Amino acid sequence: MAKESKKTIKKHASVYANVVRQFNKAADFMKLDPEIRKILAKTTTEIIVNFPAKMDDGTIQMFTGYRVQHNNVLGPYKGGLRYHPAVDIDEVRALATWMTWKSAIVNIPFGGAKGGIQLNPFKYSDSELQRITRRFTFALGSNIGPEYDIPAPDVNTTAQIMAWILDTYLSTQPPQERQRCTHVITGKPIEAGGSLGRDKATGQGVVFTIEEWAKDKGFSLDGATYTVQGYGNVGSWASLLLKPHGSKLIAVEDVTGAIANAKGIDPDDLNVYVKKTGGVKGYVKARPIGHKTLLSTKADIFIPAALENQITAETAPLLNVKVVAEGANGPTDPDGDEILQKQGIDIIPDILCNAGGVVVSYFEWLQNKRSEFWDLEEVDNKLHKKIVNAYERVRDTVKEFKTDWRTGAYIVALRRLETVYKERGIFP
Ligand code: NAD
Repeated sequence: MAKESKKTIKKHASVYANVVRQFNKAADFMKLDPEIRKILAKTTTEIIVNFPAKMDDGTIQMFTGYRVQHNNVLGPYKGGLRYHPAVDIDEVRALATWMTWKSAIVNIPFGGAKGGIQLNPFKYSDSELQRITRRFTFALGSNIGPEYDIPAPDVNTTAQIMAWILDTYLSTQPPQERQRCTHVITGKPIEAGGSLGRDKATGQGVVFTIEEWAKDKGFSLDGATYTVQGYGNVGSWASLLLKPHGSKLIAVEDVTGAIANAKGIDPDDLNVYVKKTGGVKGYVKARPIGHKTLLSTKADIFIPAALENQITAETAPLLNVKVVAEGANGPTDPDGDEILQKQGIDIIPDILCNAGGVVVSYFEWLQNKRSEFWDLEEVDNKLHKKIVNAYERVRDTVKEFKTDWRTGAYIVALRRLETVYKERGIFP
């Protein structure tokens, strides 16, 4: 977890409004069945819980937690939990909806959900965070479940937090049920039933999609330059996994600040520094730069891996890269998207690019259900196959519809959902 600084989190327009615009564009384009469109345009369940937790000084503080379940026609609701001051119903609704599209694109039997608590986790001790997490899990009660809704890590939530959620959930089940329920949450520590390869899975998926993009373009990743926003789970793993390709990290930003070095920043060395200090600020083997300089740094690849609405009408014109690989969810708003397209910058859209996390969460879920433990090679090979297949499906759809990559990715997801609804019909 990176250290929080005083840097303000700029929230632009409603994130959910971005999802609606993206959805409408794709639905119009593919002529989605108007009746099914009505269903997919809405979330199914929106849960807001206000719950108390005891602070270290003995006082009680109230917190607001969210869980939005968008759709489960393809399988149980699935999606991460975020701990951040900017978490609100609008953001969670958007993130839940993206999860439905993501699971559909990678062809796994999950629906979409997302949740979180509106708080700054860096203001609380570990024991306070544990009590907050346990009370939140208790407040959600049977709204989550191993065959119903399965949370996972997201911004500022770790494997340790998943372990607390697991323990709380299991402790509130009847004793004879407990051993059957470890798949109520994914992204757990290995010893507590997690999967090998889950920690790096999202970054690994990002790199697999970049490899496919490079192959398509006849572009060599050896010597290619890249910049990264966010050096947490996704940003750091994507960087670490691009290193063996001979690609060079030349600028990186997180919540503590931004740094650059045209000669290259070693992702491993930076990772050790960030783990120790909580952020990239003060890393001596690079010079400090501003946010706008980070965005305008000329590079081959930009990997946004922090928050939503970073590439907008205001900031998109600054970008000077060949491709944006969206490690984060929703880093580009629809205005930013149009500008990137006009500038000829390729986009590997979030719902494809960062789907590696949910794929390996699915593998973790399967291993728990079957009492199996796969080795890393098996996880990586299966993930690679899933991501390459999804990439190819999106690429073929882009060609078929002569459209942009985000719309192509949406069409892949919406076609699958449309088919299932048509086959099953609407009850009663
Ligand atoms: P994380 O908490 O591990 O890291 C977040 C990073 O973003 C940190 O380095 C933080 O300092 C940085 N950041 C936060 N606010 C910033 C700001 N205003 N400016 C610059 N940097 C800022 O979170 P993560 O799990 O790596 O998630 C990052 C993104 O990837 C999110 O959009 C998340 O939804 C998405 N994602 C995560 C996963 C996963 O498996 N963890 C899966 C799919 C998508």
